[in-house]
Amino acid sequence: MSRIVIAGGGLSGCLAALAIARRLPNVDLLLMEQGDTLGGNHTWSFFDSDVPPEIRWVIEGIVASHWPAHEVHFPRRSRTIDIGYSSIRSTELDQAVRAALRPDQIRLNARIHAVDANSVSLDGGTIAADAVIDARGPAAMPDLDLGWQKFVGQYLRFDRPHGLTLPVIMDATVEQIDGYRFVYQLPISPTELLIEDTYYSPTPALDQVALRARIERLALATGGGSPEVVSEESGVLPIVLGGDVDAFWQNGTVPRLGLRGGFFHPTTSYSFPDAVANAALLSEQGELTSEALYRLYRNRSERLWQERSFFRILNRMLFEAAEPGQAYRVLEHFYRLPPAIIARFYAAHLSGVDKMRILTGKPPVPIGRAITALRRSAA
Ligand SMILES: Cc1cc2nc3c(=O)[nH]c(=O)nc-3n(C[C@H](O)[C@H](O)[C@H](O)COP(=O)(O)OP(=O)(O)OC[C@H]3O[C@@H](n4cnc5c(N)ncnc54)[C@H](O)[C@@H]3O)c2cc1C
Repeated sequence: MSRIVIAGGGLSGCLAALAIARRLPNVDLLLMEQGDTLGGNHTWSFFDSDVPPEIRWVIEGIVASHWPAHEVHFPRRSRTIDIGYSSIRSTELDQAVRAALRPDQIRLNARIHAVDANSVSLDGGTIAADAVIDARGPAAMPDLDLGWQKFVGQYLRFDRPHGLTLPVIMDATVEQIDGYRFVYQLPISPTELLIEDTYYSPTPALDQVALRARIERLALATGGGSPEVVSEESGVLPIVLGGDVDAFWQNGTVPRLGLRGGFFHPTTSYSFPDAVANAALLSEQGELTSEALYRLYRNRSERLWQERSFFRILNRMLFEAAEPGQAYRVLEHFYRLPPAIIARFYAAHLSGVDKMRILTGKPPVPIGRAITALRRSAA
């Protein structure tokens, strides 16, 4: 019987563990996490069309909130789009994994110092395994050329209804500061709202104090009055403009999942759909060794890198071709398209015709700057 150790009990590690527990219950599994709960402090959202029906079993029972449609707002375009949207919170993921795994299969407060193909080292010694999967979240990515998506989000509780019924995925009618700015809002209930102030920026620096003040002003502008801040989360996520995927995986022996394996949407940084797909894939493997899984995930990452090259071009348009303060126009232009293309964009499954349709129409960025950005992308 193979012994698998998953290093890191965040999104990708937990979903991989769930998939093994559900489909390969006889595998000797250990999920190790440095925190005292699983999943950290996140709200993970995804579009209905991001997770195909055949792999939904991985997340069965853990989806907490669902809305039948969502909205986007730009200075010259507002739309309600009939693509459903779901969110789960870390606490729900934690509960689902604890329900599916035996207590001896989860080790919390376990700070891992190092991993190699057949062992995990921590303060108390070393644990041997046939397969070690590194799911410890983002690490430095010196081989990739990156921009950043950074945000602060606050869960707010109001005395009166705030008035929102559908998630607002992008509201770019706000003042444009530090690149492309938009507000993201999730109406958890009539009196609870998650507001995130988000920036696509060339720098990872995040001024949390300024963002909190902006969220406070946005909250006061709803119909709900002055809210209580229930909790806060923040993120600085990579947006890929280019780079060398071979170097990213070079000299490795340990399979990697999640952000550590580069498994995220190049334009949105969402990793939920890839994490579900990778977990389902894991449960289909006959050979559960580090060597076999390293090959599997490296090949998959390199294939996705090729398939997703179009998104890196779009990212250059957003970060490099748009005039300062005008980057929102790239997304405003994109959102003229039919829901089916929008769904395939977020699922990162664009057809050749979709790509052509995204690029046609009155260009949202100056042509000269677009050509320079395209040249950089080709280089
Ligand atoms: C606040 C926030 C909101 C996000 N929202 C979305 C969203 O809505 N949809 C979406 O698709 N993506 C979202 N993302 C992006 C991305 O999906 C998440 O960052 C996701 O959690 C990445 O999964 P992961 O498994 O790679 O890393 P993580 O979920 O960060 O998990 C890594 C885990 O490894 C543990 N760990 C790290 N080092 C060690 C160590 N040395 N020893 C033991 N354990 C260790 C960490 O404690 C952590 O629990 C969000 C990101 C953030 C930060």
